[in-house]
Amino acid sequence: MKTVVCIIGSTRSGSTMLDLIISSNPKCASLGELTLFEKRQCGFCDSDCHKWEEYKKMVRLPYYYDAAFNVFKKPILVDSSKKWRGLKERVKLEPEYDYKVIHLVRNGLDRLRFRKKFWGKIEPYVIHGWTRTHNKCEKMRKKHNGVLVRYEDLGKINIIKNLCGYIGIDYEPSMRDFWQHEHHGILGSKTAYSLVRAFHGLSENTDSFVLEHGFDLKPRTGHKFLDKKDLQIFERHGGLKLNKELGY
Ligand SMILES: [Zn+2]
Repeated sequence: MKTVVCIIGSTRSGSTMLDLIISSNPKCASLGELTLFEKRQCGFCDSDCHKWEEYKKMVRLPYYYDAAFNVFKKPILVDSSKKWRGLKERVKLEPEYDYKVIHLVRNGLDRLRFRKKFWGKIEPYVIHGWTRTHNKCEKMRKKHNGVLVRYEDLGKINIIKNLCGYIGIDYEPSMRDFWQHEHHGILGSKTAYSLVRAFHGLSENTDSFVLEHGFDLKPRTGHKFLDKKDLQIFERHGGLKLNKELGY
């Protein structure tokens, strides 16, 4: 049976990295943020990707996966579109596949950090949105007997081995060095793809992330930019409670 691995969770959870790790197994292919295929490009090729050109010719929306299996020619596809609602629709429209659901979570303080870095301040609705999305994703995960994985644990071999067991593939050590493999997913995180592109000599200027960190999987965390007031808002609106439930 053909399998679709669906990664669900909040934005900026590290889903592209998890997608690329799983897709580095020879039985799998990355689709990336599939539902955005009309707006975004292939993370590896940019605009001229023959796979997505072929896909656009073949796809008959609202059915997404049939064309993808024909183009990518692997028994397992990895879709990191992240949306729990999208997954619900896919399962209803394309019930012929075996869906494996991975709920990827990340320390809520990291979400706050991104928010503050780009928007300058933290407002309660950001925390409410995070906890609400988490609860919806958990409901979907449980419905499909899926697994929950923490972004911070993606560097651990046992965690990746357990994921492989869940998906039904053999763990291969080179999966952690995901940049060594060619991936053609619709772009999610530019940082994760910058490693792939740099390794294959596709970056015009070596990306600053690669220059700074080298080829390294280590998940990054840090709560700089956050002050006492931000942490109080986080606690008051349920962020701390959820963080504790997740073991942070
Ligand atoms: Zn491509």
